[in-house]
Amino acid sequence: MQMFEIGITGEFESAHSLSGDFGPATRLHGHTYKVEVRAEAREIDSTGTFYDIGRLQAELRSVIEPLHYRNLNEIPALAGMNTTAEAVARYIFKRLAPALRGAGVEGLKVTVWESSSSFASYRESFES
Ligand SMILES: [Zn+2]
Repeated sequence: MQMFEIGITGEFESAHSLSGDFGPATRLHGHTYKVEVRAEAREIDSTGTFYDIGRLQAELRSVIEPLHYRNLNEIPALAGMNTTAEAVARYIFKRLAPALRGAGVEGLKVTVWESSSSFASYRESFES
């Protein structure tokens, strides 16, 4: 099966702390989070693409800007859960998905890097 993919990255800086058996990560600390968004589709249209990459970049910026220089544990939609990279990836996904679903995108994956050596991803395929 053929598949096209486009991707963008963004960054934000936030504090958080985990609860449970996470050692020093249970103390308040910060990360420069790197976010990678990949969107995929089987076909491109007459413009030669399936989604405008500049629009995707703008949508990611609007989603991560409210997280910048914040404590993730205090973001209402993340409060009461462990703010792991998995949870942050799902949070970003859920806010990006409405603009992409039904707009030519068939699958979306959000990867959140907490450091240069560790990441977590959340992905879903959209029913067409
Ligand atoms: Zn952390």
